[in-house]
Amino acid sequence: MAIERTFSIIKPDATDRNLTGAINAVIEQAGLRIVAQKRIRMSRAEAETFYAVHKARPFFGELVEMMTSAPVVVQVLEGENAVAKYREIMGATNPDSAAPGTIRKQFAKSIGENSVHGSDSVENAAIEIAQFFSGNEIVG
Ligand code: UDP
Repeated sequence: MAIERTFSIIKPDATDRNLTGAINAVIEQAGLRIVAQKRIRMSRAEAETFYAVHKARPFFGELVEMMTSAPVVVQVLEGENAVAKYREIMGATNPDSAAPGTIRKQFAKSIGENSVHGSDSVENAAIEIAQFFSGNEIVG
């Protein structure tokens, strides 16, 4: 199995409810290592770039508003099959459909305010990591 890195965001709805530690516990219990982490206020430009793939979707404006409404915690997670493993423990986008025990089932408020982001491929993980971290900030 391949050791991969994935990019994670603990979103405003979760930082607002002081859930960073609880979410990090789920991540670590799943065997993923947090090799970089910082709490930032995402700018509008950063959020628009990050979610550019969704620009034409009806929820885009709301999504950018939400991501810039409060601090987020951006992270790099490392481990075996990290991309797929993190998607698995995050759960489905809509918490109503998320499997029991997943982060979104436990903590998400709605399909929009769904507590976490995780990359959907190794290629996108590398792009997303590079948007927020320089190489010397990642300590594996
Ligand atoms: N989103 C939303 N409404 C929708 C679908 C998505 O507000 O109908 C938001 C939600 O915060 C989601 C993000 O847009 O996490 C990105 O959507 P995507 O389909 O990529 O889901 P994810 O990969 O985060 O599960």
